[in-house]
Amino acid sequence: MPSSGDPNTTDEFPPMAREEERVVLARRLPKAELHMHHVGSLAPSELARLHRQTTGVGLSRVEADAAYDLRSLGKFFDDLDKAVRLWGDEALVTEGVLRMIAGAYDRGVRHLELLCTPDLHRDEIGMEPDVLLRAVGEAFRVAGDELGLTGGIIIELHRFGGPRAALDLVEQTAALREKGVPILGYGNDGDHHTVPFEALAPAYERARAEGYRLTGHADVIEDVAAALDLGLDRIDHGWMGVDDPDVLRRLRATRTPMTFTPTAYALGGLVSRTGYVDAWRILDDSGVPLLLGTDDPELFHTDLAQDYALMANAVQWSNEQLGAAAKRSLEHAWFLDGDGAEVRAHWFAEIDALVADPRSPHRGRPTGC
Ligand SMILES: [Zn+2]
Repeated sequence: MPSSGDPNTTDEFPPMAREEERVVLARRLPKAELHMHHVGSLAPSELARLHRQTTGVGLSRVEADAAYDLRSLGKFFDDLDKAVRLWGDEALVTEGVLRMIAGAYDRGVRHLELLCTPDLHRDEIGMEPDVLLRAVGEAFRVAGDELGLTGGIIIELHRFGGPRAALDLVEQTAALREKGVPILGYGNDGDHHTVPFEALAPAYERARAEGYRLTGHADVIEDVAAALDLGLDRIDHGWMGVDDPDVLRRLRATRTPMTFTPTAYALGGLVSRTGYVDAWRILDDSGVPLLLGTDDPELFHTDLAQDYALMANAVQWSNEQLGAAAKRSLEHAWFLDGDGAEVRAHWFAEIDALVADPRSPHRGRPTGC
């Protein structure tokens, strides 16, 4: 702490090391989070709170540890199902999403696209898609009012359910946007071993015909090729495409934006011949827009600030490169109304100021401004 001096200047602070500046910037920079799953965002504190509320007893240490141990892919999906069961009604869903938004906002997220998988809620607790999506939408309405947060919902088609269920989901939900539910687009998730990506084509085509943008989880090379065949607007993961010369050529040609969730990869979330840091370098050098996200942040023990810091240190970014990554996330964000140019301009100015001085973006401004 400074011992004395003008409170409007930070000149007397000692200089920070490059690594220290990266960590501070990673948290403070205004960012768009474009790959964060609703059910993977059950924080340990929220788990403990809901557990006590629903069972009347506190969560034991063993139970708490077991909820986040990432033992296997099967366990991972079981944990997601358990999370769904804890948000048993609309009010709990809205409150839970508001807590997730608050956690993200406190780490610099100013635009959030939350990936919701309504089939999980219908299968686990009988909550219909429109009920879930209205409850999530209500949280975005409150967060917009209180925090100025933009963004909304990406509806995830569930790979397990197959093509008919995916098309049914689009048909049940596409009209909700007209009724005020902030739906930005459609994606897909779930175990990629179950149903081929291309089997979801009819559902995707229907969503596109309704005017929605499209993304989807590409967890193996075949998924990346299928996502490119379908002409998706964005691809989630997909970086393992660098292992196949033809897929890499197509990624370079289309420059399809890709979400990239490094802590999940560090923990072994996806495997490929090329490591994720090298894949980042190859794709970034090729002009493919890479957009940092958290995936299932609580299950992967991360948040967006941590993911920015992880990549910034892995590829030794300058402050300017960190700022560019944050701007890129906002450039490729989807907005409900218009193209978001005004929102971007606002946050870009804040990013430029923070890049110039991670400690205080207002340094040097006249007193009183
Ligand atoms: Zn994901």
